[in-house]
Amino acid sequence: SGNLYIVATPIGNLDDISQRAIKTLSSVAWVAAEDTRHSGKLLSHLGISARMLALHDHNEKQRAAALLQKLQAGEDVALISDAGTPLISDPGYSLVRLCRDAGVRVVPIPGPCALISALCCAGLPTDKFHFIGFLPAKSQQRQNVLSAIPQGVGTLICYETARRIKDCLADVVKVFGAERELVLAKELTKTFENFVYGTAAHITAWLNEDPARCQGEMVLMIAPTLAAEEEINPAAQQTLKLLMSELP
Ligand code: SAM
Repeated sequence: SGNLYIVATPIGNLDDISQRAIKTLSSVAWVAAEDTRHSGKLLSHLGISARMLALHDHNEKQRAAALLQKLQAGEDVALISDAGTPLISDPGYSLVRLCRDAGVRVVPIPGPCALISALCCAGLPTDKFHFIGFLPAKSQQRQNVLSAIPQGVGTLICYETARRIKDCLADVVKVFGAERELVLAKELTKTFENFVYGTAAHITAWLNEDPARCQGEMVLMIAPTLAAEEEINPAAQQTLKLLMSELP
């Protein structure tokens, strides 16, 4: 059977497309894309004319079955999303699962991913992190999701929309307190790329200074508490316990 390639595409700067991505997209029989018009522009920018098929959240299950038939008939398929790595807050899971179950080879063509780009430049702990994807649109549900995250999972990373960022910051304060250190990564790899550091109040004030700052794409990161960091160090805890037991 053919191969399914999971191909990452740029999240802003078109120069971030990899050589392997170009080779793969040029050679496959089909490119499955979230939005064929949007991805058609990328392909024509790369000088690639590929047969395209739409695969989005609403038709994924159906389309996955059709794509599996093509793969089983020996045709190669590449999956791309509008930006970044497919399946990361983007369609593709049903297709990959189906291919795995059917014994079709699934091949990664790695590249841009907003959460990884944001995390590795934020200056927050990177040894452990917890990716939440998009938080719910409603405030109460958002607070519920944030409250349910256990301590000790490291830096929290969420995708957020410009429209909801201020409400989201208000909920972060409700759940984690006003002092928690945050980083907002905006417009990564684009002209107005920016990392804003500080408390929710500081970031909200920064957003309020200029309406243009509330636009664009963003990743919100929440630092782990110091307490949670210390929890990871059992030796320090043991020492503390010993000291405590010596106290009158
Ligand atoms: N699959 C993509 C990836 O690999 O990052 C993510 C797709 S998700 C539908 C879109 C969200 O990713 C945006 O709302 C934003 O939170 C984040 N994002 C994508 N591109 C970004 C960029 N250039 N700068 C900051 N955030 C970005």
